[in-house]
Amino acid sequence: MTQQLILRVDPPTAASDMRLTAIASTRLGVDANRIKGIRIIRRSIDARQRNVMVDLTLTVYIDEEPSEAFFEPETYNPLPADAPQAVVVGAGPAGLFAALRLIQLGVKPVVIERGKDVDERRRDMARLSREGIVDPDSNYCFGEGGAGAYSDGKLYTRSKKRGDTDRILRIFCQHGAQTDILVDAHPHIGTDRLPEVIKAMRETIRRCGGEVRFSTRAERLLTDNDGRVTGVDTSAGQIHGPIILATGHSARDTYRTLREAGIGMEAKGIAVGVRLEHPQQLIDRLRYHNPNGRGKYLPAAEYTMLTRVEGRGVYSFCMCPGGFIIPASSEPGLLVVNGMSPSNRGTRWANSGMVVELLPDDVPTPEGADDVLRMMHYQEEIERRFFNAGDGSQKAPAQRMTDFVVGRPSASLPPSSYAPGLYPARVDRLLPEEISRRLRKGFEEIGRKNRGFLTAEATVIGDETRTSSPVRLVRDPSTLQSVTCPGLFPCGEGAGYAGGIVSAAIDGERCAEALATALSSRQII
Ligand SMILES: Cc1cc2nc3c(=O)[nH]c(=O)nc-3n(C[C@H](O)[C@H](O)[C@H](O)COP(=O)(O)OP(=O)(O)OC[C@H]3O[C@@H](n4cnc5c(N)ncnc54)[C@H](O)[C@@H]3O)c2cc1C
Repeated sequence: MTQQLILRVDPPTAASDMRLTAIASTRLGVDANRIKGIRIIRRSIDARQRNVMVDLTLTVYIDEEPSEAFFEPETYNPLPADAPQAVVVGAGPAGLFAALRLIQLGVKPVVIERGKDVDERRRDMARLSREGIVDPDSNYCFGEGGAGAYSDGKLYTRSKKRGDTDRILRIFCQHGAQTDILVDAHPHIGTDRLPEVIKAMRETIRRCGGEVRFSTRAERLLTDNDGRVTGVDTSAGQIHGPIILATGHSARDTYRTLREAGIGMEAKGIAVGVRLEHPQQLIDRLRYHNPNGRGKYLPAAEYTMLTRVEGRGVYSFCMCPGGFIIPASSEPGLLVVNGMSPSNRGTRWANSGMVVELLPDDVPTPEGADDVLRMMHYQEEIERRFFNAGDGSQKAPAQRMTDFVVGRPSASLPPSSYAPGLYPARVDRLLPEEISRRLRKGFEEIGRKNRGFLTAEATVIGDETRTSSPVRLVRDPSTLQSVTCPGLFPCGEGAGYAGGIVSAAIDGERCAEALATALSSRQII
């Protein structure tokens, strides 16, 4: 028999099976010898009060051994030889989850990816950090696994549908992610583990008869006389079938091509700012209210900051405890940073994007420019300015947080995790004035509410612009096809329908389902 138990315990107790068994025995009135095992099924840390507590939900196994399976795996059967074919452009989370779902629905996915497989890609990223050379097809944004491959692998989403999220997490576990992600309130996989998970997904796709082709860039949609998509022209030839377009928010060449082809799209709000880096110990001390830091039983502390300045949100984004800052440009001549963490979140640094919300109405269209792509041009302009401020490498301009707030140069900088290196610069002046002003006020406000956060030990590193897609590819809400181009399913973050790994994966599955329905009802060829 099993019983569920909800407990609130201190961190050492939460980490000890023996102590939890003793508590379960008392609470349930069952002799400890009859408890054959306990399994934590939900875990969250409550650090709001001085005494940090851990909230647990346990399954207690009484007179029976814990079942082997932590979760029910999905079934992926080999496809029949005559399965209809669909093209999935992009092997990020949206594309990979779309491909896996297509297999379950009896459609053969041909996944094309402009970048390299996840192992080869790693070498290009090492070169990017070491030599500052950006390969436009293989970098932190492009390549197998997409932007999510070398990330923190945080798996939270604002999606309210718990069922959808749990399903995505289970599929990650089925492909080798640690089962802790099914338990933790703030799950994350870690950049050291993600590549193996992605490879296992690729293997499932291939084993079932799907295809994954690397170094294959989609260049142009193929359409019939009625404007319906019939396939895609790629750097390696034409491929036919309806298309799930999951190219992510950094594929600016794709946005330009789609715009020229008259595909329905609109400008979308974004957020722009900087990466902020603190010593992790400082964040541990602040969040856990303990001058000695996190101790042995607590993980590297996280934070979420949010305020409003002049009617716009100023907030932390993609916080990476125990992580690194990385060069995330996907084109030469541009500079943009982002963050990631290994699974143990064990580095000496904590970083997050600190960004200012920007609505389409906030950004005027320069004369002669395309108004639909104006948010993208705004991002590009900032990335170019930050690159041009340097020596042509991926070294990033940086300023102490306190200097940024008062508007003065920093004479020196704290040590940083950013491998290409930092140099002192007026980040406050490199950013557009409206962003700098709101960030400064936001830092002051956040610093007032969180004593110790606004500190000379923290470094502001520029720039962070790729927080979400600058456009939305307009799709019919019931069929998920482009309103201007039937047979095209704009998908994931780049299409403007997701923000993060899990929501991109959920959208990938939804697009696969919509495509399979359209195929079976012969709405598309
Ligand atoms: C450094 C970093 C850290 C991040 N950390 C997190 C995190 O911890 N948690 C989280 O939820 N999110 C994180 N994100 C964001 C997350 O990675 C994205 O939200 C997510 O990957 C979006 O998924 P996607 O499949 O829609 O697009 P992407 O992951 O961007 O994938 C798009 C894919 O399409 C390919 N592609 C582009 N153009 C073409 C073309 N023309 N032809 C063929 N292929 C093409 C690209 O190479 C890429 O592989 C991070 C992002 C970065 C850059």
